[in-house]
Amino acid sequence: MASDAHSHPFDLSLLHDGAEAERARLNIVCAASAWRAEDFQYNERAAARFPMALCFAVHPQLPAACAADEYGPETVRDSLSLLHELAAGKRLDAVGETGFDLFDSAFRATEEAQEALFLEQLRVAEEYGLPLVLHIRRAIGKMFRYGDRLKSKIPSVVFHSYSGTADEAASLLRRGINAYFSFGTAILLNHKRAIGTCAALDEGRLLFETDAPYQGLRGKAFSSHADIRPIIAEAAALRNGAGKSCSKDALEKASDENFYRVFGKRLP
Ligand SMILES: [Zn+2]
Repeated sequence: MASDAHSHPFDLSLLHDGAEAERARLNIVCAASAWRAEDFQYNERAAARFPMALCFAVHPQLPAACAADEYGPETVRDSLSLLHELAAGKRLDAVGETGFDLFDSAFRATEEAQEALFLEQLRVAEEYGLPLVLHIRRAIGKMFRYGDRLKSKIPSVVFHSYSGTADEAASLLRRGINAYFSFGTAILLNHKRAIGTCAALDEGRLLFETDAPYQGLRGKAFSSHADIRPIIAEAAALRNGAGKSCSKDALEKASDENFYRVFGKRLP
């Protein structure tokens, strides 16, 4: 088995018809992000056929997309009220992806809206004791600011596509946050910081993800769950290069265990 800690199966299905059949054939369990009814319902049906952890949140990029008229003004409110409904109905394995995207000026213009959304979604995770899946770009400082909240009532916190340093990861853990750090195709695309961090962190804190369909490898239009094994193989090679003796099978197993620790409460 392998575990894909962050993906968007509904969006993937629009590009790759047989993605779910392929996932089952390759024996890949995944965590699925959704932010509206249509994608959540698709994921819920897929989860009934092959194990999938169901996540839902208002994506931090959504306020900017609404400001650009990509979606109607009611979109954020609808998504948020569905989050409350799903959490209350015990239909979620995690709240996410939420967080902060301050990557460029269009996103930074919505910082206040992102903060309000993050706080409300943090409260939902606290109330229902759900893990949080975080999308953080250029905003790691915010996570230190919310550190006390993240450590007290949140069972685990997944940093999807983690782009911070190993030192920052270590200090989040020292703060008492039960944090896991997820790495994807960035380590195959020569992203120096992700490579260094992925090689340095403790095996017990590592997750791997494809972010399918959004982080395609070089020459590919999109990523799919099948990319998880080359990602894990690369991570094992990086860790060997950093002096840790690490086979890809052992790393796959360790990341599966981490995945089940975070998302596995309701999984078979
Ligand atoms: Zn994503």
